[in-house]
Amino acid sequence: MFCLIRVSNIKLSLDEKIESIEEKILRKLRLQRDELLEYRIARESIDARKKGNISFVYTVDVRIKNEETLIKRLAADKDIAPVKLEAESIVARGSVPLGKRPVVIGMGPAGLFAALALAQNGYRPVLLERGQDVEKRTQDVEHFWSTGELSEESNVQFGEGGAGAFSDGKLTTRIKDPRCARVLQELVNAGAPEEIIYSHRPHVGTDILKEVVRNIRLKIQSLGGEVRFGAKVSGLKTEKGAIRALTINDAEELECSCTVLAIGHSARDTYEAIYDAGAELMQKPFAMGLRIEHPQIVINKAQYGEHYSHPRLGAADYKLTHSCLSGRSVYTFCMCPGGEVIASSSSKGELVVNGMSYHARNGENSNSALIVNVEPADFGSAHPLAGMHFQQKYERLAFELGGSNYYAPVQKAGDFVNNVDSGSLGGVKTTYRPGTKYSDLRRCLPDFAAEAISEGIKAMGRKLKGFSMEDAVLTGVETRSSAPVRIVRDQQTLESSSVRGLYPAGEGAGYAGGIVSAAVDGMRVAEKIINTYSLE
Ligand code: FAD
Repeated sequence: MFCLIRVSNIKLSLDEKIESIEEKILRKLRLQRDELLEYRIARESIDARKKGNISFVYTVDVRIKNEETLIKRLAADKDIAPVKLEAESIVARGSVPLGKRPVVIGMGPAGLFAALALAQNGYRPVLLERGQDVEKRTQDVEHFWSTGELSEESNVQFGEGGAGAFSDGKLTTRIKDPRCARVLQELVNAGAPEEIIYSHRPHVGTDILKEVVRNIRLKIQSLGGEVRFGAKVSGLKTEKGAIRALTINDAEELECSCTVLAIGHSARDTYEAIYDAGAELMQKPFAMGLRIEHPQIVINKAQYGEHYSHPRLGAADYKLTHSCLSGRSVYTFCMCPGGEVIASSSSKGELVVNGMSYHARNGENSNSALIVNVEPADFGSAHPLAGMHFQQKYERLAFELGGSNYYAPVQKAGDFVNNVDSGSLGGVKTTYRPGTKYSDLRRCLPDFAAEAISEGIKAMGRKLKGFSMEDAVLTGVETRSSAPVRIVRDQQTLESSSVRGLYPAGEGAGYAGGIVSAAVDGMRVAEKIINTYSLE
């Protein structure tokens, strides 16, 4: 039986072809060609520390003849080690009779992956999604972006695929959970590019992501799952501290005993309904600020120097942080190389922005959120939903500032930092649709956030050449970086601490941030349900 050997630190220059990895493996392991049975890339990263000598660095898993002899021979080489294979995890079934089919509310990454895991284990979930399927939803979003007419149920936040469907589809995560690899593999099975498995900056792009999401839905259905679009859970009924039924669209009642609540961070009416049903909620810190846009070429040059246009490198990204004199942190977030700033509202009279890219990341500009930490002490009330009201206040101010028609307020970075009004944008064009209005963005931000962002732009300009350029475009306001609320759950059972049978999951519940971690949390909750309930 051959086992895998992991070989790290294989370097390729920008102009070396990827096929030359094989030659480098043979040289590094001092092998004859017929001794190398196969190899696959486990990780790819870019070393751009020396701008004049940028290289790709690979870790590969190889299968060879006589691997034990090789491991002994190269024992002192830190770049070579046997691969520890993860045992296939089998989810043990519980013994509590399930009674009704499990219900999953929400078809974002958390709900989709919870439903997929349940379906794969024979639990035939019912999925309820307030928005529309991804095809109809794309039309509704395009209509909003071109006319300013918002559908409150089918938009960038609501609908099949959840908040991540119109995104850069970055799949980076800070969590270390073996389920991350399973999430990436399921995405590849559903049509995502293979390289997301090994790239250190995996990304899919909104165009491919929509197809992937659709394929996951079809898989859930083929395994016996039922999917209902346009089905908003408007109320929850409990009995003796346990979930008993869901009200759908204020009209229909669906009895249930086990429900995954994966509603994302923008379903404000649903947060209210959960609160009314007696679920324990608590305040949670989040972050808010603006989007900043630069010409993509400025960022590429800053990161890659003279090689900025090399076809192997693609659009460059960045991640910047600054600790302010006030004690606040300001940081870039959800960076979209070659992407667009998008209107991401889900309620009438409230304006919120975010960013997305297509797989090719070939847009003229690159953008990123530039956000400041907001603490419960800033909310001005002890009510569990005070953070949500705080977000709403600034989204309404941004809406009014833009002209009350979903035009976004924009300002040049130079004007914002110097607190002056030159009245119009400069050389950098905005990508936001349906339109913009030149404004004083401080008027839709809390003072502490405006000060921190101004200080941050100057400091970040010292770290990344061009970041603080006068004409960079700022767009307001970015408030939905994460949930301002946590739906408290029991750490052992993962049920709501106050409503049995209700399983809060994903970003809206306050247990995840980003596509992969939300998907992982959905899987975790599904496994807990399988561990608890039996199918009989
Ligand atoms: P969501 O994705 O928000 O899904 C919740 C779902 O529940 C929605 O479909 C909603 O319609 C539905 N729902 C809500 N209430 C009800 C109800 N009452 N009844 C029925 N259904 C309901 N993350 C990344 O990792 N990489 C990125 O590149 C990235 N880019 C982003 C770009 C944009 C524009 C946005 C908005 C977010 C981006 N994110 C990104 C964040 C990421 O999308 C979220 O972290 C992730 O989608 C959270 O997953 P979730 O399943 O917990 O919630």
